[in-house]
Amino acid sequence: MTRSTTTRPLVIVGASYAGLQLASSARELGFEEDILIVGDEPHPPYQRPPLSKGLLTGKATVDQLWLRAPEFYAQKRIGLCLGRRVAALDLAARRLTLDDGSVLEHGWLALTTGARARALPLPGAELDGVLPLRTLDDALRVAEAAASARSVCVIGGGFIGLEVAAALRARGAEVCVVETQPRLLARSLPERMAAFVEDAHRQRGVRVLTGRGVRGLLGANGRVAAVELADGQRIDCDLVVLGIGVWPNSELARDAGLTVDNGIVTDPLGRTSAEGVLAAGDVAAVAPSPGAPRVRHESIQAATDGARAAASLLVGQPRPNTAVPWFWSDQFDLKFQMAGVARADDEAVLRGEPASGRFSVFYLRDGAVAAAHSVNRPGEHLLSRQLIAAGARLSPQVLADPDSDLKAAMAAQSAAA
Ligand code: ADP
Repeated sequence: MTRSTTTRPLVIVGASYAGLQLASSARELGFEEDILIVGDEPHPPYQRPPLSKGLLTGKATVDQLWLRAPEFYAQKRIGLCLGRRVAALDLAARRLTLDDGSVLEHGWLALTTGARARALPLPGAELDGVLPLRTLDDALRVAEAAASARSVCVIGGGFIGLEVAAALRARGAEVCVVETQPRLLARSLPERMAAFVEDAHRQRGVRVLTGRGVRGLLGANGRVAAVELADGQRIDCDLVVLGIGVWPNSELARDAGLTVDNGIVTDPLGRTSAEGVLAAGDVAAVAPSPGAPRVRHESIQAATDGARAAASLLVGQPRPNTAVPWFWSDQFDLKFQMAGVARADDEAVLRGEPASGRFSVFYLRDGAVAAAHSVNRPGEHLLSRQLIAAGARLSPQVLADPDSDLKAAMAAQSAAA
């Protein structure tokens, strides 16, 4: 194929997992046009999981975080325009404007703008020592503050808040987690698993307060000194880390007229409501099939698989994303691995003994394995992804028996089918 001199580049807005994967998959699939990734952070794409874990405990350093070495971008002809925001899109003219006023023309356009940390809309949120954790720069600020902090209050008991709590507790700080909901992880995990997580934190010395609202943050000389709860209780602390969830960066898309509803609405190929405009990653709200409820996964897996699907469109070989969603979280010595999306009305089947710190919970829906959560059971997690993808129908008795061979049971079932 010869390259036309009149074609315009693929411009990807957002330089993290989805944006980088889209660019590299496009090249792997033989996409020939120029590719430019524009990102508002000053850094090239980096790994995010260590930001709330190893970077805080000191087990990871910044130079280990880059997703690709500089040579990769040159070899693959992937341009990086960093430290620049896209200020506006003109989809009809296929042009966009950067925050320095410069204008870029594009052919295909991909929006992989991700999500940003929600701000805490409460008095005292502007005090020194009150820090969000989302980006590399955020994590470096938290790590620096944690080096001298004796007492930390983490606001928000989702995965990010709990990972930060575990990391800072492991390095010796007093840590308190405050969560407004009656339990931890209400958005992401069913009750049984969330209760296990809460116990695990308490046993390791984290103070966990659930069902407690925050009224504001109190300071002394411009620095945070305490978190004041809605009931008037004061939690003294010299560092507050916010883990109160994220907000999709979909304003650019909305202002350009794309359909947006808790994220940029896409199909499983990453197609948005506008011709030639794709979206993937944390910003994409994907309807798995027409009319099905949309989901906006916040995971590396969803970002990379969504981006691969979008890249397949660029070369005219569409392959929709049908991957089983999965993600993980490391807290203390515990590796949590989640596959599929569990629902409250699924039949939960426990395999193994929670007190041993190694077990899984499988979730059956209409007799088939629909989701699974594992703690320190990486083999069972990998297998659960296969069971979910295959729609395996295993009995609760087989799943619950820690000595049963799930692989053999699945093989027997596919042989019988
Ligand atoms: P993430 O995956 O980024 O940790 P989640 O949305 O799963 O995000 O978790 C954020 C948690 O923060 C939720 O459990 C939510 O109830 C909690 N939260 C939000 N606002 C507050 C607040 N003002 N005080 C305490 N907890 C909060």
